[in-house]
Amino acid sequence: MKKFRGVFLKNDNEIGLMREANRIVSRILDELGENVKPGVPTMAFEEICRARCDEYGVRPAFLGYQGFPFALCCSINEEIVHGFPSKDRILDEGDIVSFDMGVVYEGFFGDSARTFGVGTVSSETQKLMDVTRESLLIGIEQAVPGNNLYDISAAIQSYVEGFDFGIVRRFVGHGIGSHLHEKPEIPNFVPKGMTGVPLKAGMVLAIEPMVTLGSHEVEVLEDKWTAVTKDRTLSAHFEHSIAITSDGPMILSRSD
Ligand code: MG
Ligand code: MG
Repeated sequence: MKKFRGVFLKNDNEIGLMREANRIVSRILDELGENVKPGVPTMAFEEICRARCDEYGVRPAFLGYQGFPFALCCSINEEIVHGFPSKDRILDEGDIVSFDMGVVYEGFFGDSARTFGVGTVSSETQKLMDVTRESLLIGIEQAVPGNNLYDISAAIQSYVEGFDFGIVRRFVGHGIGSHLHEKPEIPNFVPKGMTGVPLKAGMVLAIEPMVTLGSHEVEVLEDKWTAVTKDRTLSAHFEHSIAITSDGPMILSRSD
């Protein structure tokens, strides 16, 4: 596979396979979202993921990845990412739940995340989710050939900070392809003193802002995975895998 500044460039055939991988992820996330309601244990969503992976004949990308024990990352309220599904954790009215899911299809990865409200959420909580989703789309608009990678980062950061929300720095987006995590890292803020790579057609990027109601500082719980906000304020997470084409960004992780 061709590379530019260490970033793999995918051809149309490979992007087609990645569209398929991400279409499957998107359909699974649709179904998870339809099942979000008060009273549901979060393990129910893990079970849906595993059943659908079997039916589609794909491998869940996260299960076993660096020892992660589940197919689904399921993060509630102050949990940012990498939360564990559990039969003892029951969704409550007013919670928010972030699902992050990936699959491998024909050797290529799909990766996408969405946050859902459980029943009725407060207007502040709704705003957090809306701003996070919008910041992702605003970042994606910058994913055009000739721009710099950090144009994406800057667009996300300035949009989110304009609402006085925190943008998580500890976790970043990434290139994606025949590996779950490829170069480049995609921060949701502009790192000081660094220069991003120029964007080129054929790059496939997983862009994933994580936004908090408070500070951007993160703490990892004793299970060694679950990342929470240090100040325990709520956090939302949206992620799309996108391909950069000569016509602009193509969102791969979208249902039809
Ligand atoms: Mg993800
Ligand atoms: Mg990702």
